[in-house]
Amino acid sequence: MPTREPIPYVGRFAPSPTGPLHFGSLVAASASYLQARANNGQWLLRIEDIDPPREQPGATSEIVHALERYGFEWDGDIRFQSSGHEAHSAALASLIDKNLAYRCRCSRASLAEARRGELGIIYPGTCRDGCEAGESAIRIRTNNSEIAFVDAIQGRVSQCLETESGDFVIRRRDGLIAYHLAVVVDDEIQGVTEVVRGIDLLDSTPRQIWLQHTLDYRTPSYAHIPVITHPNGDKLSKSTGAPGIPLHNVEATLIDALIALRLSPPKKLARDSVSKVWLWAVENWQLGKLSGQKSIVKTA
Ligand code: GLU
Repeated sequence: MPTREPIPYVGRFAPSPTGPLHFGSLVAASASYLQARANNGQWLLRIEDIDPPREQPGATSEIVHALERYGFEWDGDIRFQSSGHEAHSAALASLIDKNLAYRCRCSRASLAEARRGELGIIYPGTCRDGCEAGESAIRIRTNNSEIAFVDAIQGRVSQCLETESGDFVIRRRDGLIAYHLAVVVDDEIQGVTEVVRGIDLLDSTPRQIWLQHTLDYRTPSYAHIPVITHPNGDKLSKSTGAPGIPLHNVEATLIDALIALRLSPPKKLARDSVSKVWLWAVENWQLGKLSGQKSIVKTA
């Protein structure tokens, strides 16, 4: 039998330009970078700029500048998600053509009484069989087959979407492509083989896998890294006052990120250059050290 060539590893970091990179995003970026480099893979940078109302002016250049200062080296050009509009629209059209997606005119207010689950409102299917013409969102049909995957850090995850989320929005009422659809189309176009990202997206993954199935795409592997919290347990994020990462003495902050990822860098590494820190980290990287961890307190 001919031996099959292994598929080359392709990873990515896909920040939304909603603010500067904070320590939690540095940890996520570092984990995906290390996993790609330790697998001799490519690491792509994609700016997820398709939600203008949430974007902050200048955030894209701040993020790119910070990544450069911290010594990240991405392969190829940066992909701007907004440049993929045609591909996103084509995927949407193919789902509508096959009657796998439908228009929905339900407003937030009209869904106020709907049941809620861990994933938010469970859409009751009001517009499944049609609705009046006019401004509408588009939802993908779901069913109750079990969507399961084994996350490389968090273990087995499964959901039955019809019961747990209901048909979900893939194009918003304001005309913007929803995150779930855009991310799945872009990962397919870019040939991403493993998604390493924050645990806040773990619950979203079954919906993304469902979209991959309906669009006939490959499903990458997934590894969701623990959330970084303040000592009081609050997630480090813009809303809890996490500042942007410093752009001076970056070695020290990078080393803190490695420690958060359960590596044990030698003390003397703090006096080395950023590229030396990365060399050490790639050599010593072990995703398995994070196994089963859901949160890590930032102590430094
Ligand atoms: N753009 C998303 C964020 O910044 C991440 C998307 C992903 O990694 O799938 O939260």
